[in-house]
Amino acid sequence: MSTLEGRADEALRRIGVHLDDPADGTLVARTPITGEEIGRLRPSTADEVDAALTSAHKAFQSWRSVPAPVRGGVVRQLGILLTQHKDDLAELVTLEAGKIPSEALGEVQEMIDICEFAVGLSRQLYGKTMASERPGHRLMETWHPLGVVGVISAFNFPVAVWSWNTAIALVCGDTVVWKPSEATPLTAIACDALLKRACIDVGADPEIHQLIQGPAAVGEQLVSDSRVALLSATGSVRMGRTVAPVVAARFGRVLLELGGNNGAIVAPSADLDLAVRGIVFSAAGTAGQRCTSLRRVIVHESIADELVRRIADAYGQLEVGDPFDDGVLVGPLINEASFTAMATAIDKARADGGEVVCGGDRVGDGESYYASPAIVRMPEQTSVVRDETFAPILYVLTYSTFDEAIELHNAVPQGLSSAIFTTDQREAESFLGPEGSDCGIANVNIGTSGAEIGGAFGGEKETGGGRESGSDAWQTYMRRATNTVNYSDQLPLAQGVDFG
Ligand code: NAD
Repeated sequence: MSTLEGRADEALRRIGVHLDDPADGTLVARTPITGEEIGRLRPSTADEVDAALTSAHKAFQSWRSVPAPVRGGVVRQLGILLTQHKDDLAELVTLEAGKIPSEALGEVQEMIDICEFAVGLSRQLYGKTMASERPGHRLMETWHPLGVVGVISAFNFPVAVWSWNTAIALVCGDTVVWKPSEATPLTAIACDALLKRACIDVGADPEIHQLIQGPAAVGEQLVSDSRVALLSATGSVRMGRTVAPVVAARFGRVLLELGGNNGAIVAPSADLDLAVRGIVFSAAGTAGQRCTSLRRVIVHESIADELVRRIADAYGQLEVGDPFDDGVLVGPLINEASFTAMATAIDKARADGGEVVCGGDRVGDGESYYASPAIVRMPEQTSVVRDETFAPILYVLTYSTFDEAIELHNAVPQGLSSAIFTTDQREAESFLGPEGSDCGIANVNIGTSGAEIGGAFGGEKETGGGRESGSDAWQTYMRRATNTVNYSDQLPLAQGVDFG
């Protein structure tokens, strides 16, 4: 057993999972750190997916009647177990997704945070009471559990996105069937084990959560099954384009968290020290593999050269390599296809007149794929800039008027995260206003990545329009009923209708 496989095995054991690699396992867990195998599983069969759906559907029949604050007890216990196993889970995230330990720990902290949020929420699933237009009548809204929530998640946030969905779904009275990314099966097993243990600890039915594993085809079964009341799917726009019509055709509910193409405007009045720090973390952090990674800087022409020079200087100090090594800030790309996509995009940008300021080279060789983060100055926003390339390429465009900056910013098909660096209040407020950024997330003087769980998370346009995590995102996980109660001895009709 290699060192990294041993580390994965140890982390799983501390969580209470004993993996006995089946000889016929075709679902191979690989670490992008070296490209080597660190585990092997058997993907779920169609019958197993069906059985998982049946169990989740059956568990829902009683889970929905458990009082919401009692349901919160499971999530409270999950948060406690996540806190106890924070290091173990973060280790698995680094091994499977390649994040540096600090970011992996941050991802697990996000899980703990959403558990806290969801426990509080379990006592706050408020409905409104409205004034009825009829005397002796009460008008109100009540919120009820929805059913089985199917969760499909991406490789780059292998645990946080699951917890955003699951913590909220469970307090809302739903049960969950989860299909994680085929690139991160071990973290998924660990999360499932911790949740099952939380259920047992507090005397809840462990069948409220089901894990199915495997490639896209396994997810397709979840998408088309009418027992899945809500499909929450996180991944590429390509995936969303395939799954959304299938769910719509059966009148299911869908929550889409798809790709972004996040931009930051840097105005002449910006605090450049702060802008550079925000830009470098957002663009190069997580090796550019966050949905909220910064991909486009739109900078005023008067400061463009200076800003680019400063970002390039900072990039020169970024250490790329094994995320477990001290001082490394940029880990590996997930696989070879990812590096190929990066190289192809840079070639295309060059062909469109782009100037590569730095980066874009492969670092090291063998079965792993590390790349130096790239900065590419573009004469205009060509199609390669409008596409999301899931790798650390930062395109730089210039503007002369603020209106032009906003136009450039919004002229991409995606609408996830955005930022402006300015000390001009008019510009800042305009960016956040109705004619400003068209994204689901719009920030002032911070980068595009690193959202907190308290706010609703998601984006517009091809990002899919879904919202999850904090604020009132829970409403997507419940069904709303409007109730009118007549406590009078008359039967007045609404709108003054007289029916004899
Ligand atoms: P991906 O689309 O390749 O896969 C995501 C998940 O969808 C995987 O579990 C995959 O097996 C599944 N899948 C793919 N096709 C499917 C189909 N037809 N039916 C059912 N399931 C299917 O994405 P990825 O490479 O894992 O992740 C990177 C992408 O995810 C980027 O585009 C990134 O922006 C996006 N992302 C978005 C958010 C967000 O919140 N908006 C968060 C994380 C990642």
